[in-house]
Amino acid sequence: MTRDLTCPRCRTPSVLAVLRRPHTWTNASRNQVRGVGEVLLCARCDAGDPLVTYLVVHESVQPEDAAHLARLLLHWIDGTRPRKPDETALKAEAEAWYRGEL
Ligand SMILES: [Zn+2]
Repeated sequence: MTRDLTCPRCRTPSVLAVLRRPHTWTNASRNQVRGVGEVLLCARCDAGDPLVTYLVVHESVQPEDAAHLARLLLHWIDGTRPRKPDETALKAEAEAWYRGEL
């Protein structure tokens, strides 16, 4: 557990892991700005995540669990990726708005 971090969602020191993901965006001046976004894995807030279950149950990682833990980590990391908007749903919603249905 990352004891020195407090979860911003539940305000408890239940953070198990932190993923720091570099990203860039273009500001209003059209300059590239670099930053780092953090995603926290919290034992309370993310209790349904299999990675949380593993980390709560096991005090340390055993070598024979390495492949299983790697899959859990990759699943968690994949779930933290920013989602791209569903272009089809977005287009359908815009068309509905133009038709006055929203
Ligand atoms: Zn939390």
